[in-house]
Amino acid sequence: MKKLSSILLIFIVLLLPLHAGGNQEKQTGSTPELHANRNLKYVFLFIGDGMALPQINAAEAYLMAKEEKDSPVKLSFSQFPVTGMCTTYSANSYITDSAAAATALASGRKTANGILNMDESKKTTFKTIAEFLHEKGFKIGIISTVSIDHATPAAFYAHQPSRGNYYEISLELAKSGFEFFAGGGLKDPEGKKSKKEGEKNNALEEAKKAGYKILNSIKDIEGLSKNDAEKVIVMNPVLSSSSLAMPYKIDRDKTSLNLADFTKKAIEFLENPKGFFIMVEGGKIDWACHANDAVAAIHDVLDFNSAVEAALDFAKIHPDETLIVVTGDHETGGLTMGFAGTRYSSAFSKLTKQKLSFEEFNKIIDKYKEKENLTVEDLLPVLKENFGLEDLSIREKDLLENAIHASINNATSQDEASYLLYGGYEPITVTITHIINNRAGLGWTSYSHTAVPVPVYAKGPGAEVFTGYYDNTEIPKRLSRLLDTNL
Ligand SMILES: [Zn+2]
Repeated sequence: MKKLSSILLIFIVLLLPLHAGGNQEKQTGSTPELHANRNLKYVFLFIGDGMALPQINAAEAYLMAKEEKDSPVKLSFSQFPVTGMCTTYSANSYITDSAAAATALASGRKTANGILNMDESKKTTFKTIAEFLHEKGFKIGIISTVSIDHATPAAFYAHQPSRGNYYEISLELAKSGFEFFAGGGLKDPEGKKSKKEGEKNNALEEAKKAGYKILNSIKDIEGLSKNDAEKVIVMNPVLSSSSLAMPYKIDRDKTSLNLADFTKKAIEFLENPKGFFIMVEGGKIDWACHANDAVAAIHDVLDFNSAVEAALDFAKIHPDETLIVVTGDHETGGLTMGFAGTRYSSAFSKLTKQKLSFEEFNKIIDKYKEKENLTVEDLLPVLKENFGLEDLSIREKDLLENAIHASINNATSQDEASYLLYGGYEPITVTITHIINNRAGLGWTSYSHTAVPVPVYAKGPGAEVFTGYYDNTEIPKRLSRLLDTNL
């Protein structure tokens, strides 16, 4: 009996650190005790920008409607064995921006909105998990649907007092030594917007000097093999001229690659005996949600989901060595699965007729606006064709009439009433996406980010450490412990 109780005691003592973790965490903010996993060498961190449960659930409800099922069709990652939940607040705001959130996810540190991997005083820089792992011999891949100098991808290699320092960020990219960058382009490689005097070396030229090969045609990208170069910057053949981002998934044609294509290429290019760390961002889920266009956001969630599937295919071949973590950096738009006007009913099939994003529809509206005395009747054919929107109610017609008026008179976001209605977006288009989304039973509360916690999904060796409700800074800290680095 005595022997049994001492064995039990040892057992409890051994288990204690793991379970005490939760409480300790509250008091000290420290990571719960966990141990390195020696097998682990392939790590994926997927970040859906602006993606929390509403965006995920909306995509699942959309698939349910499209495939005529009775229950939500789960995404690849929402079926992962381990789920957790994260708070996302930044050092100076309960609602984070993408720079502070990505800093938390990359370096495990809180900072103020707008800052990348520096403290609030903008004096101390933080080293990121990608940098730690690169030093350890891991190859690094950074992929995004938006420009690769944008806040989320930049947070893995850049340290800047402002996320808007695109030129400085692209110079840091060139110096990072990370092996694989892909997706969007660079916003200011020539330093046009940088006010500093002196040398203005083109960041892409600097990257070439540092050994990067730059690819931007489908043929070159598809043909890329490990032996072609040590380091690459791979840009989608189709990029927006202003944002340097890839098109929304719903607007892409065959001239464009998808997030899964870049993820597969990264795996092929980076696989090596020492391991890799690949960060993949679905960057435009956020942009569509800022504009309150649920269908464009859903298509980008599905594009992101396909990229996770590419990682899952790799994990099937290397199950004991591959960890996949999927999360969001924050929620955007205050999207919810319910709307005052539709009470307890939903009609997700109403979303399936939308053929383009708000951005592409704006181009159509621009042409209509040239017409004198534009009326709701004039718009009916394009509403039916692009959104399947017919039989407008009196309230919907009123909303559209006001939107036409606001659009023609260039209502600005300075005026509070207009801002609440249109958020600074094209009034006609945002009114149409609101009508469609509301008819389906979806509601929006903001054109900005919100503070609702984001889910974390994990699969693979060590995945269990991501269970629980914790802060976003814990994600890289826990990854770091698993990988035996000192973040
Ligand atoms: Zn955003």
